Amino acid sequence: MAYVSSQAELDAAPRRVTILGSTGSVGCNTLELLERQPRAFQVEALTAHSSVALLAEQARRVRPRLAVIADAGLYGELKDALAGSGVTAAAGEAALIEAAERPADFVMSAIVGAAGLEPTLAAVRRGAVVGLANKETLVCAGALMMAEIERCGATLLPVDSEHNAIFQVLDVDRRETVERIILTASGGPFRTLSLDQMAQMTPEQAVAHPNWDMGAKISVDSATMMNKGLEVIEAHYLFGLPEERIEILVHPQSVVHSMVAYIDGSVLAQLSDPDMRTPIAYALAWPNRMAVPVRRLELSKIGQLTFEEPDPVRFPALRLARAALSAGGGAPTVLNAANEEAVRAFLERRIGFLEIVSVVEATLEHLPTGPLASLDDVRNLDREAREIACGLLSARV
Ligand code: NAD
Ligand code: MG
Repeated sequence: MAYVSSQAELDAAPRRVTILGSTGSVGCNTLELLERQPRAFQVEALTAHSSVALLAEQARRVRPRLAVIADAGLYGELKDALAGSGVTAAAGEAALIEAAERPADFVMSAIVGAAGLEPTLAAVRRGAVVGLANKETLVCAGALMMAEIERCGATLLPVDSEHNAIFQVLDVDRRETVERIILTASGGPFRTLSLDQMAQMTPEQAVAHPNWDMGAKISVDSATMMNKGLEVIEAHYLFGLPEERIEILVHPQSVVHSMVAYIDGSVLAQLSDPDMRTPIAYALAWPNRMAVPVRRLELSKIGQLTFEEPDPVRFPALRLARAALSAGGGAPTVLNAANEEAVRAFLERRIGFLEIVSVVEATLEHLPTGPLASLDDVRNLDREAREIACGLLSARV
């Protein structure tokens, strides 16, 4: 689909953008880029879970039509904070869907977790251009989501840095020439630790990522490498490749963001300084590009780029995610739901670091994972998996 074809067009017709999850790491980076080009972008709606003060401050700055706080109990606080601003305040899950349904040209899906599924689906069903950061949406309902995109004529642009890199170098018109894709992984903050050392790690140590400044959940996922497992599943749905043609390569510098290998032996990669503003901008301006003030890549200063195989023994999440993708049906939904609950328990210091993945594995063993025919099936299985995971978690405390 032709979205923006020239700089002139970009200047002439400001694109209206909605950010689902505007107070998070991806959301704030997105808003910063939009604010740099006020002639090119206008903000339609902003949403957040519970950060009323930040949401109100953002809304007062960029004047969207609508600001939504998902936690319905915070409606009064948001309304007061926006009094006299001209921005409509709303709250609760229905308002989140309403934000996604508003007539924005581009919707940034940057809520964390399966909570982002229904608003993202609402934007898809409107036929919007959707920038997808929220990978859990594709992990828990990939087949359904891709079918709805096709049916509704929506466009999904990958924002996750690896998938954005692949999107930039994938020859979509000659898919038969693609042999495999190679997702790079930083290896996270515990890349060189033994299992015994990992067992002692605290939430503070797990969220201190060496290269990226991200929300708490994805930072823990990077430490267990479940993030890369979720990304294999995300890549499967986005690019239509089977699990065995999606490789993972640990690359601690996070400069090569991913690669596509072709049948003639060529390997194309996208490189940049690790800064989410680059993939976010690529999605916002696609199929154009926009100027972004990120640090320029200076390979001579970096000197060395290194690559190594991931260690399946210290990072069992990789095996679990691959097995869930191969099993198909609802297995990825269960994997994702159990992981969300286990990561929450770890962040709340209810379980140790290594228990995150063992709870996910035990939850997968508890549930049959037949096909998912509808959104209701996804919702039900997601809920069941959370119940089982929470039962396992409380048994461990
Ligand atoms: P974050 O925790 O910083 O922000 C999450 C946002 O979602 C916030 O605005 C929060 O208010 C909102 N939110 C949380 N729970 C919600 C709920 N139940 N209902 C409605 N809104 C809710 O997370 P993040 O790091 O920005 O990540 C967002 C998504 O993007 C995740 O799926 C993550 O995997 C993906 N992603 C992030 C990065 C990154 O650099 N941060 C990179 C790649 C992909
Ligand atoms: Mg990523």
